[in-house]
Amino acid sequence: MFLAASKIKDNISPLDYYSMHIEKFKPRNNGDKWIMSGLCPFHADKSPGSFGINRDTGAFKCFSCRAKGGDLISFHSKKYGLDFKGALKDLGGICTVDRKPFSVTETRSTAKRDNSGQIKNILKSCLSIDHSKSEPARLYLKNRGLDKILRDLPDDFLFHPHLPFYGEGGKKTYFPTLVAIMKDCAGATVTLHRTYITLDGKKAPIPTVRKLLPGRAAGAIHLYPADEKIGICEGIETALAVRLMTGLNVWAATSTSLLVDISVPTNTTKVIIYGDNDKSKAGQQAAITAAENLTAMGKAVKIVMPAGSPILSKSIDWLDVYNQ
Ligand SMILES: [Zn+2]
Repeated sequence: MFLAASKIKDNISPLDYYSMHIEKFKPRNNGDKWIMSGLCPFHADKSPGSFGINRDTGAFKCFSCRAKGGDLISFHSKKYGLDFKGALKDLGGICTVDRKPFSVTETRSTAKRDNSGQIKNILKSCLSIDHSKSEPARLYLKNRGLDKILRDLPDDFLFHPHLPFYGEGGKKTYFPTLVAIMKDCAGATVTLHRTYITLDGKKAPIPTVRKLLPGRAAGAIHLYPADEKIGICEGIETALAVRLMTGLNVWAATSTSLLVDISVPTNTTKVIIYGDNDKSKAGQQAAITAAENLTAMGKAVKIVMPAGSPILSKSIDWLDVYNQ
């Protein structure tokens, strides 16, 4: 069975997966995001200690041979020598490699942990972007060239004065944070997206500035309400740039895997996907797959890509175009 990357991540708990695919791996709960356990399969590892996995994201890294990846799909393809599609297919249930069989459904209950309490808690202390205490959020938007959006503030886009970021070994640091509410197509809250920033409106000095809450992810950030026509972007900031350039009601998927899986309300019949012109081609591919999926759902779909050659420079997105 072939499942999209986001479905795989939704359905397979990293702990369950690594317990089956790493020798001597012992899941434990000491509160840390990173669990250093098991033998690294990418070098001749004799004792556990240098290999670790992230219990929430499924990322892995080895301090000995420096093998690393951002999720269990990347681990699976590296360990079993599969390309991305092959890994998806394999994880979706077809065993093409010789290993212990497992089923996607048997781990479902552990992966879909309920984060509604955490969502409520965070939202309780969120402020609107135009609140007097939300200056870091306004400075950040200004620094990104998006200050005009302050006159046309999106829905579901808020500011939290200090949310914790968990770094190496579970070390907690607090940052001012932009919080966006991710909703399903029907408008029910699914999870929160966070952009960690600094008091002077820069990106926070951490490896991953943008993060979804651990647990289930699906849907999009409904920045402006969908009507008959809607614009869809991968990133929140590119979506705001598209809004400023076109006046279109836009949603942001926040990642390529969620962009691929996006669905829109029944009365939205026209969808324009404003894709990212990525050096890696990930943005282009996601835009095409999303367009295919939406077309299959009966929508009239158009893809618009920013002009330019990402081969000669860095990737180009609609925020770059807006700021040109
Ligand atoms: Zn290693």
